[in-house]
Amino acid sequence: ERVPLIAGNWKMNLDHLQAIAHVQKLAWSLKDARHDYGSVEVAVFPPFTDLRSVQTLLAADKLALRLGAQDVSPQPVGARTGDVAAAFLAKLEVRYVIVGHSERRHGHGEDDGVVAAKAAAAVAAGMVPVICVGETADDLEAHGSAAIPHAQLEAALGGLPPEAEYVIAYEPVWAIGSGSPAAPEQAQEVASLLRARIGELRGEPEATATRVLYGGSVTSQNVAGFLKQPDIDGALVGGASIDADEFSRIVQFRK
Ligand code: 13P
Repeated sequence: ERVPLIAGNWKMNLDHLQAIAHVQKLAWSLKDARHDYGSVEVAVFPPFTDLRSVQTLLAADKLALRLGAQDVSPQPVGARTGDVAAAFLAKLEVRYVIVGHSERRHGHGEDDGVVAAKAAAAVAAGMVPVICVGETADDLEAHGSAAIPHAQLEAALGGLPPEAEYVIAYEPVWAIGSGSPAAPEQAQEVASLLRARIGELRGEPEATATRVLYGGSVTSQNVAGFLKQPDIDGALVGGASIDADEFSRIVQFRK
């Protein structure tokens, strides 16, 4: 059984002081609700500058929230001005690393090769890459919903060793920050095709074990519709993860 993962990608929001207040509020809200972290895993992805503060808080309060990073260098330590090495993240008890987010593919020119190298760097450091794939509105019109995510998936998995743990996030670019999420059935269709492709490329056990998330305008109002789809195992939440109460409601999608 795949344990659902609710992941909050804060993007470039919340400085390290705001981050502490936010995580405290979230943790209290989930404690109040007697949230079982074993049945729904929760992860937050703060900016790099917040990671140390959040890590310290999670450790001090023995919180079961997982820590994620929004990016990683494809290279090990060395002359890479501005980059952050996977080894540094692993040392901060970072478990998950987002790679291939559309805001990096399109805003920072990262191609499939870079994404594959970043995913491999995360795995080599003992972390779990959250590999984002998704088509733009133009792709959708030209190729349908599955072709681009498939190509992105294959490229990213190409660099991973056998038995690597990773998470796939299907994020249609047109649904990100638009207030117009994909229809759950439509997201399910792509998730199921991605899972089938993982099976072909890397074997059925890996396909069955790998979590496929949906991302793009997820809110507490629509999250349950996605999570009840058989191939959708969680959500990658952007805007709605900045509000601790709203994110807490999303985590409690079963209630
Ligand atoms: P929104 O939830 O703001 O649409 O962002 C989704 C996303 O890009 C998460 O990585």
